[in-house]
Amino acid sequence: PGHLRFESVHFGYEPEREILKGIDLDVPAGSTLAIVGPSGAGKSTIARLLYRFYDLTGGRITVDGQDIAAVQQASLRAQVGIVPQDTVLFNDTVSYNIAYGREGATEEEVATAARGAAIAGFIERQPDGYATRVGERGLKLSGGEKQRVAIARTLLKNPPILILDEATSALDSRTEAEIMDTLEAIERGRTTLVIAHRLSTIVHADQIVVLDAGRVAERGTHAELLRRG
Ligand code: ADP
Ligand code: ADP
Repeated sequence: PGHLRFESVHFGYEPEREILKGIDLDVPAGSTLAIVGPSGAGKSTIARLLYRFYDLTGGRITVDGQDIAAVQQASLRAQVGIVPQDTVLFNDTVSYNIAYGREGATEEEVATAARGAAIAGFIERQPDGYATRVGERGLKLSGGEKQRVAIARTLLKNPPILILDEATSALDSRTEAEIMDTLEAIERGRTTLVIAHRLSTIVHADQIVVLDAGRVAERGTHAELLRRG
């Protein structure tokens, strides 16, 4: 599941200023679409519409053929996971932060998600059964560790659709490289939107669209776009 389509999507935050000017996207279930373009092009707005923070002003977005406007918001959001650029954590334990919003999750599920995000090393099972990085709280983590917590949170949610909104932009290049493997692993089997500024930072994607001022300026594979310059 997770075939995503945008059909002639129009949107403006204010009535007199259109931000998305007719966007068409077709993302087969399980594939990765990268959306690149300069700041202000409307990339994050696309992500927000998919999460239904706002209603469209024209066109429609479908998941497996169903208009998301007709789906209950909670059930739509259960299908979509977002790893944002900057993850804000609660000043509580790592496991609390991973499990936040997934109150039904078992300790074993939290531990599995932590391993999947490669943070198992700093989550240790305590004798009293409480999983925590020894005395460590969310606010003390580095940027890369925070992103791994966000990834673990997403793994626990296990959504068919994933949005990586400049998920590694705030990290130094070494940390970014360390996290890329983990990101690519969680993309597997999910319909994924990777949002980025520059084509050169796209590691892999089945298709890429270049967004400019609310329109798709170009689309193709990585090789096709590079060939066209
Ligand atoms: P990108 O992600 O490509 O940098 P955004 O989707 O964040 O671009 O923003 C696209 C445009 O929408 C920008 O001109 C931005 O100023 C505007 N915008 C973003 N959020 C809001 C908002 N909440 N209210 C009004 N305008 C907004
Ligand atoms: P910068 O701020 O360095 O210009 P971008 O905004 O282009 O970076 O960042 C987008 C991020 O998305 C890059 O850091 C890149 O590592 C990451 N990225 C690229 N391709 C993928 C992918 N297939 N899956 C997950 N993340 C990706």
